[in-house]
Amino acid sequence: MNNSECNILIVEDDAPIRKLMSTTLKVNGYSYKAVSSGIEAERELTAYKPDVLLLDLGLPDMDGVEIIKTLREWSELPIIVVSARSEDDDKITALDAGADDYLTKPFSVNELLARIRVAQRRLVTAERKNEPEPIFVNGDLKIDYAAGTAYVEGNELQLTPMEYKLLCLMAKNVGKVLTHTFITDHIWGNSLESDVATLRVFMVSLRKKIEKNPSNPQYIQTHIGIGYRMNRL
Ligand code: CA
Repeated sequence: MNNSECNILIVEDDAPIRKLMSTTLKVNGYSYKAVSSGIEAERELTAYKPDVLLLDLGLPDMDGVEIIKTLREWSELPIIVVSARSEDDDKITALDAGADDYLTKPFSVNELLARIRVAQRRLVTAERKNEPEPIFVNGDLKIDYAAGTAYVEGNELQLTPMEYKLLCLMAKNVGKVLTHTFITDHIWGNSLESDVATLRVFMVSLRKKIEKNPSNPQYIQTHIGIGYRMNRL
Protein backbone atom coordinates (compact mmCIF):
# COMPACT_ATOMS: atom_id res chain seq x y z
CA MET A 1 0.00 0.00 0.00
CA ASN A 2 1.42 3.38 -1.02
CA ASN A 3 1.46 6.11 1.59
CA SER A 4 -0.93 8.22 -0.49
CA GLU A 5 -3.44 5.35 -0.50
CA CYS A 6 -3.25 5.03 3.26
CA ASN A 7 -5.86 7.18 5.00
CA ILE A 8 -4.97 7.95 8.57
CA LEU A 9 -7.32 9.43 11.14
CA ILE A 10 -5.63 11.44 13.89
CA VAL A 11 -7.64 11.86 17.09
CA GLU A 12 -5.81 14.15 19.49
CA ASP A 13 -7.06 17.10 21.54
CA ASP A 14 -3.60 18.52 22.22
CA ALA A 15 -3.13 21.02 19.37
CA PRO A 16 0.72 21.01 19.16
CA ILE A 17 0.80 17.19 19.04
CA ARG A 18 -2.01 17.10 16.49
CA LYS A 19 -0.05 19.57 14.38
CA LEU A 20 3.16 17.55 14.70
CA MET A 21 1.36 14.38 13.59
CA SER A 22 -0.41 16.14 10.71
CA THR A 23 2.77 17.74 9.42
CA THR A 24 4.69 14.46 9.66
CA LEU A 25 2.02 12.59 7.72
CA LYS A 26 1.75 15.33 5.12
CA VAL A 27 5.51 15.49 4.53
CA ASN A 28 5.58 11.70 4.11
CA GLY A 29 2.79 11.67 1.56
CA TYR A 30 0.02 10.09 3.67
CA SER A 31 -3.62 11.06 3.35
CA TYR A 32 -4.99 12.09 6.70
CA LYS A 33 -7.68 13.83 8.63
CA ALA A 34 -7.24 15.27 12.13
CA VAL A 35 -9.93 15.70 14.77
CA SER A 36 -9.84 16.63 18.45
CA SER A 37 -12.75 14.85 20.14
CA GLY A 38 -14.33 11.45 20.56
CA ILE A 39 -17.58 12.56 18.93
CA GLU A 40 -15.74 13.70 15.79
CA ALA A 41 -13.68 10.51 15.85
CA GLU A 42 -16.77 8.31 15.85
CA ARG A 43 -18.24 10.31 12.97
CA GLU A 44 -15.05 10.14 10.87
CA LEU A 45 -14.57 6.42 11.49
CA THR A 46 -17.66 5.83 9.37
CA ALA A 47 -17.47 8.92 7.11
CA TYR A 48 -13.73 9.05 6.32
CA LYS A 49 -13.19 5.29 6.68
CA PRO A 50 -9.51 5.46 7.67
CA ASP A 51 -7.03 2.60 7.14
CA VAL A 52 -5.15 3.42 10.34
CA LEU A 53 -6.29 5.17 13.51
CA LEU A 54 -3.95 7.24 15.71
CA LEU A 55 -5.87 7.64 18.93
CA ASP A 56 -5.11 9.74 21.99
CA LEU A 57 -6.54 8.01 25.05
CA GLY A 58 -7.26 11.13 27.10
CA LEU A 59 -9.91 12.97 25.10
CA PRO A 60 -12.04 15.79 26.52
CA ASP A 61 -15.42 14.16 25.86
CA MET A 62 -14.66 10.44 25.89
CA ASP A 63 -12.24 7.79 27.03
CA GLY A 64 -10.27 6.52 24.04
CA VAL A 65 -10.72 2.94 25.31
CA GLU A 66 -14.49 3.27 24.77
CA ILE A 67 -13.86 4.20 21.13
CA ILE A 68 -11.68 1.10 20.72
CA LYS A 69 -14.30 -1.20 22.25
CA THR A 70 -17.07 0.15 20.03
CA LEU A 71 -14.88 0.07 16.95
CA ARG A 72 -13.75 -3.52 17.54
CA GLU A 73 -17.36 -4.68 17.36
CA TRP A 74 -17.31 -4.06 13.61
CA SER A 75 -13.78 -3.25 12.47
CA GLU A 76 -10.27 -4.72 12.39
CA LEU A 77 -8.76 -1.32 11.59
CA PRO A 78 -5.20 -1.02 12.99
CA ILE A 79 -5.26 1.24 16.06
CA ILE A 80 -2.18 2.95 17.47
CA VAL A 81 -2.87 4.54 20.83
CA VAL A 82 -1.02 7.62 21.94
CA SER A 83 -0.66 8.26 25.64
CA ALA A 84 1.53 9.85 28.27
CA ARG A 85 4.03 7.79 30.25
CA SER A 86 1.85 8.22 33.37
CA GLU A 87 -0.98 6.40 31.60
CA ASP A 88 0.69 2.99 31.37
CA ASP A 89 -2.34 1.20 32.84
CA ASP A 90 -4.60 2.90 30.26
CA LYS A 91 -2.26 1.72 27.54
CA ILE A 92 -2.58 -1.90 28.71
CA THR A 93 -6.38 -1.54 28.95
CA ALA A 94 -6.37 -0.16 25.40
CA LEU A 95 -4.27 -3.05 24.07
CA ASP A 96 -6.53 -5.54 25.85
CA ALA A 97 -9.55 -3.82 24.28
CA GLY A 98 -8.05 -4.46 20.83
CA ALA A 99 -5.55 -1.70 20.07
CA ASP A 100 -2.60 -2.90 17.99
CA ASP A 101 0.23 -0.71 19.14
CA TYR A 102 1.11 2.34 21.20
CA LEU A 103 3.21 5.47 21.22
CA THR A 104 4.31 7.13 24.43
CA LYS A 105 4.42 10.93 24.59
CA PRO A 106 6.77 12.58 23.93
CA PHE A 107 7.61 10.59 20.81
CA SER A 108 9.85 11.33 17.85
CA VAL A 109 8.71 11.72 14.28
CA ASN A 110 10.70 8.59 13.39
CA GLU A 111 8.89 6.55 16.05
CA LEU A 112 5.55 7.73 14.71
CA LEU A 113 6.47 6.76 11.16
CA ALA A 114 7.83 3.38 12.26
CA ARG A 115 4.56 2.54 14.05
CA ILE A 116 2.56 3.53 11.01
CA ARG A 117 4.70 1.32 8.77
CA VAL A 118 4.02 -1.63 11.11
CA ALA A 119 0.28 -0.88 10.85
CA GLN A 120 0.53 -0.73 7.04
CA ARG A 121 2.19 -4.13 6.99
CA ARG A 122 -0.56 -5.46 9.24
CA LEU A 123 -3.11 -4.22 6.72
CA VAL A 124 -1.45 -6.27 4.01
CA THR A 125 -1.43 -9.32 6.31
CA ALA A 126 -5.11 -8.78 7.14
CA GLU A 127 -6.01 -8.62 3.44
CA ARG A 128 -4.47 -12.05 3.02
CA LYS A 129 -6.25 -13.37 6.10
CA ASN A 130 -9.24 -14.76 4.23
CA GLU A 131 -7.10 -16.94 2.01
CA PRO A 132 -6.02 -20.21 3.53
CA GLU A 133 -2.49 -19.74 4.81
CA PRO A 134 -1.24 -23.09 6.05
CA ILE A 135 2.37 -21.93 6.02
CA PHE A 136 3.58 -18.88 7.90
CA VAL A 137 6.89 -17.40 6.81
CA ASN A 138 8.72 -14.56 8.52
CA GLY A 139 12.41 -14.12 7.75
CA ASP A 140 14.04 -17.51 8.38
CA LEU A 141 11.16 -18.66 10.56
CA LYS A 142 8.54 -20.96 9.05
CA ILE A 143 5.48 -22.54 10.65
CA ASP A 144 3.58 -25.34 8.96
CA TYR A 145 0.24 -25.12 10.77
CA ALA A 146 -1.20 -28.25 9.19
CA ALA A 147 1.78 -30.37 10.23
CA GLY A 148 2.18 -28.59 13.57
CA THR A 149 5.88 -28.02 13.00
CA ALA A 150 8.14 -24.97 12.93
CA TYR A 151 11.50 -24.37 11.28
CA VAL A 152 14.34 -21.89 11.43
CA GLU A 153 16.59 -21.81 8.36
CA GLY A 154 14.99 -25.07 7.28
CA ASN A 155 15.81 -26.91 10.51
CA GLU A 156 12.86 -28.33 12.38
CA LEU A 157 12.52 -26.94 15.89
CA GLN A 158 12.00 -29.24 18.84
CA LEU A 159 9.28 -27.28 20.61
CA THR A 160 7.17 -28.33 23.56
CA PRO A 161 3.40 -28.08 22.96
CA MET A 162 3.33 -24.90 25.07
CA GLU A 163 6.20 -23.28 23.18
CA TYR A 164 4.54 -24.14 19.88
CA LYS A 165 1.25 -22.66 21.05
CA LEU A 166 3.00 -19.49 22.14
CA LEU A 167 4.88 -19.22 18.84
CA CYS A 168 1.66 -19.67 16.83
CA LEU A 169 -0.17 -17.04 18.88
CA MET A 170 2.63 -14.52 18.30
CA ALA A 171 2.77 -15.41 14.58
CA LYS A 172 -0.98 -15.07 14.07
CA ASN A 173 -0.74 -11.57 15.55
CA VAL A 174 2.50 -10.58 13.82
CA GLY A 175 3.15 -6.84 14.11
CA LYS A 176 0.75 -6.44 17.02
CA VAL A 177 1.69 -5.84 20.65
CA LEU A 178 0.08 -8.56 22.78
CA THR A 179 -0.33 -7.86 26.48
CA HIS A 180 0.67 -10.38 29.13
CA THR A 181 -3.01 -10.88 29.97
CA PHE A 182 -3.96 -11.48 26.33
CA ILE A 183 -1.24 -14.11 25.95
CA THR A 184 -1.83 -15.94 29.22
CA ASP A 185 -5.61 -15.99 28.60
CA HIS A 186 -5.06 -17.52 25.16
CA ILE A 187 -2.43 -20.03 26.21
CA TRP A 188 -3.62 -21.13 29.63
CA GLY A 189 -7.17 -19.88 29.89
CA ASN A 190 -7.90 -19.33 33.56
CA SER A 191 -5.73 -22.09 34.91
CA LEU A 192 -3.34 -21.60 37.82
CA GLU A 193 -0.31 -21.49 35.57
CA SER A 194 -1.48 -18.32 33.86
CA ASP A 195 0.88 -15.80 35.39
CA VAL A 196 3.42 -13.46 33.89
CA ALA A 197 6.40 -15.21 35.53
CA THR A 198 5.45 -18.52 33.88
CA LEU A 199 5.00 -16.78 30.54
CA ARG A 200 8.47 -15.26 30.89
CA VAL A 201 9.97 -18.72 31.47
CA PHE A 202 8.32 -20.08 28.32
CA MET A 203 9.43 -17.03 26.36
CA VAL A 204 13.05 -17.58 27.44
CA SER A 205 12.96 -21.21 26.30
CA LEU A 206 11.19 -20.35 23.02
CA ARG A 207 13.70 -17.62 22.24
CA LYS A 208 16.61 -20.01 22.81
CA LYS A 209 15.15 -22.12 20.01
CA ILE A 210 14.14 -19.48 17.48
CA GLU A 211 16.52 -16.58 18.00
CA LYS A 212 20.11 -16.45 16.76
CA ASN A 213 20.97 -14.31 19.77
CA PRO A 214 18.31 -14.77 22.49
CA SER A 215 19.58 -11.77 24.45
CA ASN A 216 19.06 -9.56 21.40
CA PRO A 217 15.90 -11.10 19.92
CA GLN A 218 14.86 -10.32 16.35
CA TYR A 219 11.55 -12.13 16.15
CA ILE A 220 9.91 -11.49 19.48
CA GLN A 221 10.37 -8.11 21.03
CA THR A 222 9.74 -7.40 24.74
CA HIS A 223 7.60 -4.44 25.72
CA ILE A 224 8.59 -4.00 29.36
CA GLY A 225 5.62 -4.00 31.71
CA ILE A 226 3.22 -4.53 28.80
CA GLY A 227 3.85 -7.68 26.78
CA TYR A 228 5.43 -8.94 23.55
CA ARG A 229 5.27 -8.42 19.81
CA MET A 230 6.46 -10.57 16.91
CA ASN A 231 8.17 -8.29 14.44
CA ARG A 232 7.55 -8.74 10.74
CA LEU A 233 11.07 -9.20 9.38
CA1 CA B 1 -5.33 14.24 25.40
